[in-house]
Amino acid sequence: MFLFDDRGDPMAYEQYWKKMDDKCKVVITGSQLMSYLSDPRKVCWFLEAELEEAIKKLHRVVGNAVVDGRHIVVGTGSTQLYQAALYALTTPGGPQPISVVCAAPYYSQYEQETDYLRSGLYKWAGDAYAFDKEEPYIEVVTSPNNPDGSIRKAVVNSTSNEGKHIYDLAYYWPQYTAITAAADYDIMSFTFSKSTGHAGSRIGWSIVKDEEIARKMTNFIEYSSIGVSKDSQHRAATIMGVIYNSYQDIKSDSTENFFEFGHRLMAERWSRLREVVAMNGFFSLPKFPREFCLFNGDYTESYPAFAWLKINGDIEDCEKFLKENKILSRGGKRFGSDPRFARVSMLSREDVFENFLNRLLTIKGIRNGH
Ligand code: PMP
Repeated sequence: MFLFDDRGDPMAYEQYWKKMDDKCKVVITGSQLMSYLSDPRKVCWFLEAELEEAIKKLHRVVGNAVVDGRHIVVGTGSTQLYQAALYALTTPGGPQPISVVCAAPYYSQYEQETDYLRSGLYKWAGDAYAFDKEEPYIEVVTSPNNPDGSIRKAVVNSTSNEGKHIYDLAYYWPQYTAITAAADYDIMSFTFSKSTGHAGSRIGWSIVKDEEIARKMTNFIEYSSIGVSKDSQHRAATIMGVIYNSYQDIKSDSTENFFEFGHRLMAERWSRLREVVAMNGFFSLPKFPREFCLFNGDYTESYPAFAWLKINGDIEDCEKFLKENKILSRGGKRFGSDPRFARVSMLSREDVFENFLNRLLTIKGIRNGH
């Protein structure tokens, strides 16, 4: 059997939420949450007030983003918000589609999401390091980065001053990396999928400085889906509430808080993976500096949601090599990078992760002729 998850389905957190099942229970009666509307006076008129409040409180507790005086736009996952942001930054359209770039290795879905409708407004232009045209562009900055976990800044070196930026901060949470400052960019996207692990609710949000951009993003969501599920918004608000309340509770019960749990889990998984990788000698992994985390009040390494494995020696295709050893991964080429790299999820269920490590160890056996 193959280990099926080259997507990063965040099931690792299921064991935590199982303990919190009752606290997170939501009940929606037959007559509740029926309307398309939430608050027609708000720029994002389909954003439930309780979700807006919960998002702001969560960011204030974690300290990872500035929310005061900012607009929140909710989306069906941050996937929809990515497209909404491209639309907002490129309308009204000019004679040519605007180039969209991201430093390689970049999240493999950006390319697909940018080009699948062959928009006249924007087009995928690949690696931001290679972009040298003196014309308007949009740079997506993913930090920490998917697939390699690096902390990033914009890289396009243009004198045209016509660059716009979308910050994808899906992994800027304390279980993955040190929170070193409250991010304060023009458009910042976060997702329920990677913050708490509730990918199935399909809730994402963007924190937007400019009202006109927030309005255009809202328009895009109106045209594509007339808003975002109220049921999901309610569930997301409830679960976020359970998290931030746990940090305000002085008489804390014996249950570990979510981000401490996540941080401990990721640190353990990375340590086990590094051990196996060191034992079999086939691969190398990125190294991350220790940084002071303002949230934890301590120094920490990064423990990314994906392992960016590089195959050593003369094997040229890491994905193929892993597949021969019954491990599914996503090869470097998909991320605009070298096929000697492949991405493996660190967020799978415990049994899948355990199997992954065991299969990596078996590779050692094959090499030694056991
Ligand atoms: N951005 C990045 C960097 C991601 O890794 C993902 C999920 N893999 C997304 C956006 C999309 O997340 P969602 O649509 O589930 O919110």
